[in-house]
Formats: sequence, C-alpha cells, structure tokens
Amino acid sequence: MEMGEVVLVGAGPGDPGLLTIRGLEELRRADVVLYDRLAPRELLNQVPSGVELVPVGKAPGRHSLSQDEINNLLVGYASQGLRVVRLKGGDPYVFGRGEEECLHVIARGLPCRVVPGVPSFVGAGAYGGIPLAGRGFASSFAVATGRLAAEKGDHVLDYSAMLRAVDQLVVLMGVGSLESILSQAEAARGPRHPAAVVMDATLPSQRILVGTVSSLRRASREGAVRPPAVLFVGRGVEWGERLWRTGAVSYY
Ligand code: SAH
Repeated sequence: MEMGEVVLVGAGPGDPGLLTIRGLEELRRADVVLYDRLAPRELLNQVPSGVELVPVGKAPGRHSLSQDEINNLLVGYASQGLRVVRLKGGDPYVFGRGEEECLHVIARGLPCRVVPGVPSFVGAGAYGGIPLAGRGFASSFAVATGRLAAEKGDHVLDYSAMLRAVDQLVVLMGVGSLESILSQAEAARGPRHPAAVVMDATLPSQRILVGTVSSLRRASREGAVRPPAVLFVGRGVEWGERLWRTGAVSYY
C-alpha cells in the first residue's frame, strides 16, 4: 500500500481567489479533505467529486471536534494510505495549530507538509486599505492574540508594552476582549491614536470600523464589532482615506 500523507493547506482569509496555486493543486489531488469553519466554502468545489469532505470547524467556544480528535482523524486517514488535505483558514502557522497537527502526524511515522496561506491580517490590510509597515508611519508591527486576555485575565499579554515596543499592533481573536485591549492601547498611545477593525476581511460582507482607540472602545461597547475581526492600532489606519477599500466603512 502506498504511504499516505497529510498536507496542511492555508486557505487564506475568505476570498477564495486568495488560495495559492500550490494549495489548489493539493485540493485537486486530495483523497479526503478536513476543513475549518473559516476556510472558504467555495474552495471545496475544487475537490474531485466523490472525495470525502469532513467539517472539523471551530467556532469560538464551540469546537465541533476537539484538537485530539482532529489529530487522530488525520492520522487515521493517512495511515490508510490516503492523501489528506487539511484546509485551514489563513495560514496554518498563524494561530492555526498547524504545528501541533503536523507534529502529531510526524510522530506516528507519517509525512506532513505545509502550504502557506495569506494570513487574515494581511488580507484585512490589503482589502481594508491599511498598510502594515512602511516608510514614515510604521517601521515595525506585532501580531498578537486577544484570546489569552479573554481566558486568563488582562495580565497575560501586555498590549501597552507591545505598543511601546513596536509601531503598529495587530490583534486576532480580539473581539471578546476588545475593550480591555483598547484601554491598554489608550494607556500607551493616548485616546486619539488611530485604530480600526476589519470584519469578514476579503469577503463580500467585509465591514470596517475606523476611529481612534477611544471611539472604537465605544463601538465595541455598543456591540458594533462581530467576529471574525482583525484589530489594527497604529498610523497605517490613516492611509485608508486614500487607498482602495472594499465593503462598508463606518467612522467612529
Ligand atoms: N490562521 C488564521 C488565524 C486563525 S485564528 C490566519 O492566518 O489568519 C482566528 C482569527 O483570525 C479570528 O478570530 C480573526 O481574528 C482572524 N480572522 C480569520 N479570518 C478572518 C476574516 N475573514 N476577517 C477578519 N478576521 C479574520
């Protein structure tokens, strides 16, 4: 029997056209596809008919399968000699647990490869008119999770320290702790520093809220921010007036 393998494929942030050519090739050669909730559904049309499609989708606080169950499924299919594609939102190695899945597969003597994807914050920047780094406005940026703050309290990640160390801060999984993150941003940068939230980045439903760290706090209190969303704090936000943007923009 031919040896199976697992390929983690980054699906990009939502627009199906942002999948890489290599990723598309892998989908077309798959024997089975395990896909996340945030992976674009249209991409499944590229999978040959008859190939099993397994949703293992994660919604915040409601995992349809545990990480262990996903790991075991990957190994189970690959050890039957199948070519397993694991389609993940954004990039597998950006808060995607790709490393855990690959390690699990490799530890059982099976090969695992990774095809990178466009991370959500890169897509959000491009389709939202927010450059991440560049001359004159940001020599550096950091990407952090907001999830730890929601789970373990404010002290776990120090966003104001990050904003003193880098020019721009990008936060994923931050909707649940947005107010606390923005109050830390206010401590570091003052209330009028630019901030923006891009929701449903790169999708037809993309929506952007543009304002300041203090006005976005208000927006968040009013329930205007819905996941999936990327938060940007920094002067890259100011470019948006002049750059290409998709979807609705609300100013706060
Ligand atoms: N591996 C993914 C991140 C997974 S964590 C990546 O490379 O981007 C999930 C978080 O990603 C969400 O909470 C949200 O912050 C962000 N995200 C994913 N897709 C998004 C989208 N279309 N629009 C806005 N944020 C998105």
